[in-house]
Amino acid sequence: MKKQYIAGNWKMNLTLDEARDIARKLCDGIADAETVDIGVFPPFVYLKDVCDILSDSKVFVGAQNMNMEQHGAFTGEVSGGMLKDIGCTHVIIGHSERRTIYKETDSEINSKLKAALLNDLQPILCVGESQDERDADKTREVVEKQLSGGLLDLKPEQVEGLTIAYEPVWAIGTGKTATPEQANEVHAFIRNTLRSKYGDDTAQSIRIQYGGSVNAGNAKELLGQPEIDGALVGGASLDPNSFLDIVSKAASFS
Ligand code: PEP
Repeated sequence: MKKQYIAGNWKMNLTLDEARDIARKLCDGIADAETVDIGVFPPFVYLKDVCDILSDSKVFVGAQNMNMEQHGAFTGEVSGGMLKDIGCTHVIIGHSERRTIYKETDSEINSKLKAALLNDLQPILCVGESQDERDADKTREVVEKQLSGGLLDLKPEQVEGLTIAYEPVWAIGTGKTATPEQANEVHAFIRNTLRSKYGDDTAQSIRIQYGGSVNAGNAKELLGQPEIDGALVGGASLDPNSFLDIVSKAASFS
């Protein structure tokens, strides 16, 4: 069985005190870090503080986004090298909020993914369809395009051990979760797509998280699906008790 990976995306939430408080609570409360990979993704400005608090723990700290360039005249941006420099080890790339609100393209996402790997940051690549696309029966087409665009020109050894988050846009922050069967079906499609591109061993080495209104109440059923290897959690990750509860549900499947 694969080690489950539970990641908390804090988005643009919390004060510095609250962020530190959650980090300390995770540090004290994590008993399952041996069996589950756990990561938190605070806003940029809290990363250093959270990295410092969690530096002796097994909880990964990552950013919610990064720039594709190494340095230069890119006002307001943060590079992978800078993230690495302050102790980050992970990064989320291509979250649907970045795709829809900030119009990130698959090509930009691909460049960011390559920059993350260059800086030895472990990326989570997010893919997922909108409600309209699902209604038009285009889920597979959309996810396949995001995968092939996002992973363009990556070698099998670069894709090995990667994390993909399947996050149907209609389920993010809406309280509307995909059913475990719906999620598992798309995860299986993603796995098969990866298998046909990179072979079975590489496809099996990639963890596919589900994201979209995961909470302590629905985590067990979702994480129990054969193709679901973890969760990317938004809202529920802001409450350390709920997040820890999701982690302990994951531990029973790791
Ligand atoms: C997310 O931010 O990636 C997410 C899945 O959010 P939520 O759990 O709040 O739907």
